[in-house]
Formats: sequence, structure tokens, C-alpha cells
Amino acid sequence: MYRPTRIFTRRFNFRSPHRDVERLPALTDMFNRHHTYLRISLTERCNLRCTYCMPEEGVPLSPKEDILTTPEILKLATLFVNQGVTKIRLTGGEPTIRPDLFELMTGLSGLRNQGLKAIGMTSNGIALKRKLPKLLEYGLTSLNLSLDTINPFKFQILTRRKGFEKVIESLDLAESLGIQQLKVNCVVMRGVNDMEVVDFVQLSEDRNLSIRFIEYMPFDGNRWNDKKMVPYKELLAKITAAYPNISKVQDDPNDTTKHYRVAGFKGNFGFISSMTDHFCGTCNRLRITADGNIKACLFGAAEVSLRDMMRGGSSDEDLLAMISAVVKKKKPKHAAQEFIPRLTMPSSFAPLIKTPFLNKAPIFRNNQSMRSQSSDARLSHIDPSSGKAKMVDVGDKAVTKRVASAQSIITLSLAAFRQIRDPNKPYHLQDGVANKKGDVLTVAQIAGIQAAKMTSSLIPLCHPLQINKADVDFELRETGDSGEVIITATVSCQGKTGVEMEALTAASVAALTVFDMCKAVDPRAVISGIHVIRKSGGRSGSFEQNGS
Ligand code: SAM
Ligand code: SF4
Repeated sequence: MYRPTRIFTRRFNFRSPHRDVERLPALTDMFNRHHTYLRISLTERCNLRCTYCMPEEGVPLSPKEDILTTPEILKLATLFVNQGVTKIRLTGGEPTIRPDLFELMTGLSGLRNQGLKAIGMTSNGIALKRKLPKLLEYGLTSLNLSLDTINPFKFQILTRRKGFEKVIESLDLAESLGIQQLKVNCVVMRGVNDMEVVDFVQLSEDRNLSIRFIEYMPFDGNRWNDKKMVPYKELLAKITAAYPNISKVQDDPNDTTKHYRVAGFKGNFGFISSMTDHFCGTCNRLRITADGNIKACLFGAAEVSLRDMMRGGSSDEDLLAMISAVVKKKKPKHAAQEFIPRLTMPSSFAPLIKTPFLNKAPIFRNNQSMRSQSSDARLSHIDPSSGKAKMVDVGDKAVTKRVASAQSIITLSLAAFRQIRDPNKPYHLQDGVANKKGDVLTVAQIAGIQAAKMTSSLIPLCHPLQINKADVDFELRETGDSGEVIITATVSCQGKTGVEMEALTAASVAALTVFDMCKAVDPRAVISGIHVIRKSGGRSGSFEQNGS
């Protein structure tokens, strides 16, 4: 999910030695940014699986009791409003699936007499339509609806779920109910939906909509790469070519969007250019995660648990001191800017492309996975007394759901790569591109799935498992004078032992199959980077580390 890299949770010293710092208002940082906008995530769950946001199997969820309760959210909201927050946005996960949403809205609207001016929500629109009238009644003032395509077929590919019509119905209803601010959020990805931007702008011709194109951002496991990210200037040029008569609209001081309008159109459009032209200098946002951590920056690593403080009996003063300390530590600009040199300096990026995973620190999701990296870790397949190989006895282990994904990369010459890929089509429309031996990706996919099922016969000490599902997925990336096929294999089972080996075997054999089918054109193709990118289930817990 849209949950930026969290490396560890850090505790701050909240007594500053500097007097000046102590004199600053709690929500003002060292760069004189006043934080008047609070985004609260209501849940980690979602009813879609947008490819740019979460993996197919969803994100590892916190236990229910770790999620903030409605009274806890309201307590924090009150604290923030009393310190000057005037706008609260509810987000997620998908906020509309929180069961006590109306109760929460009632509580929040009670904060209006304490200075809260606006309550917004960002939603995917799937479960929104029925709830919308009541939400407006309870004081919802703005709605950002996420919609990345106006093609129902593509919607299903992008979100991995059905429901396009429901989103459109929510959009239509929101417009007819006359909500104060209605925006459509569209994350633009090259070769996926960038060809639709002009159609999106067209939507604003006779509708009072603000269409916002968001630059695709890197988050855990979403396989971001700079080629997929379309800089906003490129989109603006494309839109200007279709509608030469556009003009800049005056933006609000803390607006993250650069707005434009086509002459004569009722609505407008804009760009959220977090990647190529960040707006950190005027950032006035703070975030609370569903499990109660405060984050001063979407991309920031450090989080502090306000939930633990509240449940540990901390006073409002202590909470405020902590919030103030987090705000004061806010950096002048966000860390994802480190990706920017790749966009502007292709020569320095080139070595990264060959072995991209080597350049990224692994991202551990919890302490358990950190522990399994420690020096006490021992090889489970070696008998400690005899030093001989043995099969692990899993008789006493619990049967749990286990999922693992592994990745491999095969780098091919452009000639071979182009036999797999039709350069004029996005990946999801690549079917049927065949070289002399047939459709390479389909054969490699079947080979990988077969291999997953046969893992225990290939790897001597692996247990035979009843696999529930094995998937092999490909991402194609042209990188100058070569092309990469990035293979991701995901295997799940209900069992006593993990499926990492099955996923690794599937990713390896799929890569070998691509090699076999392309070797006549490129006998020097290189297979690299075979590794587990995420696993969940079992006693050793979950982890996730960056893939390509
Ligand atoms: N589920 C709700 C929704 O989709 O509107 C709210 C949560 S979602 C994480 C909030 C916004 O983040 C959505 O507009 C979504 O499109 C955007 N988003 C998610 N992943 C993104 C990414 N990798 N890059 C840019 N925007 C992203
Ligand atoms: Fe992520 Fe929102 Fe899509 Fe759900 S609907 S997967 S939270 S972007």
C-alpha cells in the first residue's frame, strides 16, 4: 500500500536544548512551516489492489487492536485542531471501509467550533456511493476520488479488481450533490495510462471537476522506475498540443497542485509534481497512520507512536511535546528527491540499472525479520551435533497461510528484447508477441508455475507442499542499448513451511526459459538478481525488501 519505507521507529528526545525551539508554536517547524493540515489514515485495509500501491496479496496488516480507535482519533484530532489545524483529510487504505466512519465524522464535525474549517476524504469510490449523502450531512467538504483510467478494462488490470462503474457512479453522485470541492486523482504511468491524459482533461469541459495528475512515486515494493514516471512538464506539453488555449490558474499558498484551465472549460486540471518539482518548501501537512504513528513527511523514515503514548497514560502536554518534537525534526525536503538525479543524469543511473537491487538497502517490516538476520541465526538444514545435512522436522509446526515472492532479471540485447516486446504496446497488451520459438513470456510463465510445483523434487531438502497458487508476472524495461525482463514469482500455500524456495525456483526457471527462447538471438543474455522480495506467514514473520 501507499506506505512509504519505514525502516524503524525512533523515539525522540522532546526536550530541546535550544530556547528558540521551545518558543516556536507546536506545529511550526524549523523552516517556519506552519502545519495546518492533518491527514489521518483510518485503516490499512483496501478493497482494491492498485498495482502502483500494493502487491496483489495486499500489505501485511497490523492486528486489529493496534489500529487507533475512534475515541483515540478524535482525541488526537482535537489536540491538533487546538494547535491550529484547520483541515483534516481522511484517507487510508480505503477510508470508506472503516465500519465506524459516521461516528468518526460526527465527532470531527464537532470540532468546527474549535477552528476546524474543512473535512476532506480521499477515496477510491468503490464503497462510497451509498455513504456519500450521509457523509455530506456530517460535514464532508471535499472529496478526492482516485481514478487512473476511463477504460473499464484497463481499470480492472490496474486495480486488480472490478468496480469501474461504481467509481463513476460515486463521481456522478458527488457532483450532483454539489460537494464543495471535487477532485479526481490520477496517477500517471508511462505506457499504462499516459495516453489518456487528454481524455481526462476533456472531462472537465462541462463538469466542475479538478483533474489532478500525480507523478508516480516510489513506495515499498511498487516497482517504481524512472521510465514509468512521467514528468509533469511532459504531460503539460501533451495537453497543450491538444488544447493550445490553456492558462495557469492562481494556486493557493500551500497548494500541492499546479492548476491550469482550458479556456471555456467549467473545471480545471493540475499536476502534483512530487518527483520532478517538489513542494516541500510550503508543505503544511502532518500525517497520522492507521496504527497511530505521527509522520511529518510522507517519505520520512522515522515515526513515533502516539497510540503507545496515549495507551500508556501520557498527558495531553506530553503528547503535544512529542508532536512538537517531531515537527521540529522535519527535514527541509523529502528523501524521494534522491531518485531525482536518476532522471536528470542518465549516465550516473546506468550502473544502477544493471543490478538495481544491490543499490537499495533492504526494507525490513518488523523486528522479527531483523532478528532472523542476527548472528544467532543458524542453518536449519544442518544437524548441530553431526554437522550433516538433514531435512527439518516440521511435524509440530502450525499450518498457516504463507506467501512468498521472488524476483529475477534477465538482461537481453535490444534485438532479442524487441522479439519479446512490441515497443508500441504497454506490457499488459503484449500478448501474442512471438519470436521463432513462440510466445516467450507465456511459455516462461507456464515454465515458472510448473517449476514452483516441482521444487521439492529439484531441491533435496525441500518439503513437498500443497501449493494454493503460483503466479509469474513480467515487467519489461528498455534501458538504452539493452532490455530487461523483470520476473516476479508469487507462491502461496496453507502449510507448515514457507514457500520462498518455490517462488525462487519459479523465478529462476522462468528466467532460464526466456534465455532458452532467446539464445539464438542473444547467447550472452545475463540472468541476475534472483532473490526473495517479500514473504509473509510462519514463525519467522514477514519481511519485504526492494526488488528492481
Ligand atoms: N484508497 C484511497 C484512494 O485510493 O483514493 C485513499 C488512499 S490512496 C493511498 C491516496 C492517494 O494516493 C490516491 O489518490 C492514490 O492514487 C495515490 N497513490 C497511491 N500510490 C501512489 C504512488 N505510488 N504514486 C503516486 N500516488 C499514489
Ligand atoms: Fe492503494 Fe487507494 Fe488503490 Fe487501495 S485504492 S490500492 S489504498 S491507491
